[in-house]
Amino acid sequence: MQIRDVINFLEKIAPPVYQESYDNSGLIVGNRQAEVTGVLICLDSTEAILDEAIEKGCNLVVAHHPIVFKGLKTFTGTNYVERTVIKAIKNDIAIYAIHTNLDNVYAKGVNEQFAAKLGLVNTRILAPKRLRKIVEIWEFQPNLELTEELSQAGFYPDTAERQLRIPFDVGEKGILLNILDKHGIKNNHYQIISSENVSTKVGAGMIGELPQPMQEMKFLKFLKNTMQTGCIRHTALLGKPIKKVAICGGSGSFLLRQAIQHKADIFITGDFKYHEFFDAENRIIIADIGHFESEQFTIDLLFKHLSNNFSNFALHCTDLTTNPVQYL
Ligand SMILES: [Zn+2]
Repeated sequence: MQIRDVINFLEKIAPPVYQESYDNSGLIVGNRQAEVTGVLICLDSTEAILDEAIEKGCNLVVAHHPIVFKGLKTFTGTNYVERTVIKAIKNDIAIYAIHTNLDNVYAKGVNEQFAAKLGLVNTRILAPKRLRKIVEIWEFQPNLELTEELSQAGFYPDTAERQLRIPFDVGEKGILLNILDKHGIKNNHYQIISSENVSTKVGAGMIGELPQPMQEMKFLKFLKNTMQTGCIRHTALLGKPIKKVAICGGSGSFLLRQAIQHKADIFITGDFKYHEFFDAENRIIIADIGHFESEQFTIDLLFKHLSNNFSNFALHCTDLTTNPVQYL
């Protein structure tokens, strides 16, 4: 079993084209053709995680968060990102990240797992994604000039198995096809797929209902207990039962408007800032349970997906807690 087999399987669940433009999901370090000796699943691929992978005999780390988001210019080990990459390369360990693409899928993704923990029913995507079209080029030969030109023009191509997939907005079609034409890629070499404007199966956050309404404080205590968090930072209670619940694993404060529009009684996520709490304006309860806490069960989720499909290599969940935030 090769690393690419694991990647291909995961990308059927969460296609990389569904990731956000700032993201860096995918194979960050490593060789797709390497045989898998074992897989270690975690949220953050830190140096300690790589030590754990070495100890457990795993040469593939599957992480939720990409260790590298932006271009690295030096590899001198002056920060934890550089040190992690150096350690991975020296020890022949591949690092694969499955981040906002796993956040954005309705089925089998981060928020489905989160909603299931809270027992939500009638769930749907909170902010459906405007699905863009995709140019899919067959028999693609690696071409650095082309990929550079594409990224300069604001396209984020995705390469896999001799295919190049380039998501684009309808308005960018002319620019994109011109670039391809310039590099000798004619319309018999590609197809344009996906014409849906908005998908109900892809997007950010989730909204659903509790099977039975719950008193606010009772719900917050249930939330604290279920999500195993040391602290919930929340806005004023509104004196009415909780029935409709909006959630977003990770940093979800950007979805507050949608949560209010959908008349959620409470919005649960991580990383709310002080001033953002004011925006609740007694229309909703904001409950910040912590970024790590809201996504911690993603490790179990990935374990479940991989263990259902692969039995020919060892699969481990990390024994470490990579949450950098601690509570007194
Ligand atoms: Zn996250």
